[in-house]
Amino acid sequence: MNDYIVRATAADHSIRAFAITSKNIVEEARKDHNTSPVITAALGRLLSGAAMMGTMMKGEKDLLTVQIQCQGPAQGLTVTADSAGHVKGFPRVADVALPPNALGKLDVGGALGLGVMSVIKHMGLKEPYVGQIALQTGEIAEDLTYYFATSEQVPSAVGLGVLVDVDGSVKQAGGFIIQLMPFTDEKVIDALEKKLSSVKSVTSMLDAGMTPEDILQELLGEFGVEITEKTETRFACNCSKERMEKALISIGRKDLEEMIKDGEPIEMNCHFCNSHYQFSVEELKKILAQAKKR
Ligand code: ZN
Repeated sequence: MNDYIVRATAADHSIRAFAITSKNIVEEARKDHNTSPVITAALGRLLSGAAMMGTMMKGEKDLLTVQIQCQGPAQGLTVTADSAGHVKGFPRVADVALPPNALGKLDVGGALGLGVMSVIKHMGLKEPYVGQIALQTGEIAEDLTYYFATSEQVPSAVGLGVLVDVDGSVKQAGGFIIQLMPFTDEKVIDALEKKLSSVKSVTSMLDAGMTPEDILQELLGEFGVEITEKTETRFACNCSKERMEKALISIGRKDLEEMIKDGEPIEMNCHFCNSHYQFSVEELKKILAQAKKR
């Protein structure tokens, strides 16, 4: 099954909701970056949340970046998503190993520790929108909930889950975002809060075989939920040798000349997908010639 995001409305359009199944995205990220289980969970939750947030944007060229900088052993995570369901991301430290937390779960909050989450939206305006919060628990879903409430003033419930198999691969991944419009009835809010406090975790819903549609039906069925959109989503990186060449040109003549003098081929790595690009001395000479033309 391919990964996808569904968008829905409920309670006479006073609730909007998103749900995602993202097993392939998270497994791709795990393989690209060779992440340990706790980092697979941390990065996977952020990728899943950001993929849904990306589809909230309208423009074809709109781009969302969520960056976490933190004091825990993970040090940070960076994820980028567009409005068409393409998402990519990388951890600062991929191999953090921690004992399980008090609940016996992967200790994502412990891996992140104290820190800051920044949400940067490029939406065709000159200046990007930037919202920033202090991490609340480092468990990511709670942090995004806090971000929506404080930076966007939208009361939200966010659930994110990654289930890592015994061999370290991704067994399940997904999540949901439920948002209240300013005109949501108090009775609906109370009933929704009650519902959310009684449901199982995202990972157990996914592990029980529930689809994103099933999850929204479970959470919002009593409010007359209606699926309005379904978008395929995948891990996608737009790096290429040409882009790496441009990056090399921008480092400047002096550094290029030194690389050529060393007489060794160089390797450039893409942060987002960990692809390697080799440049021979001959290629570096051509790049230097281009840099001189600028
Ligand atoms: Zn790449």
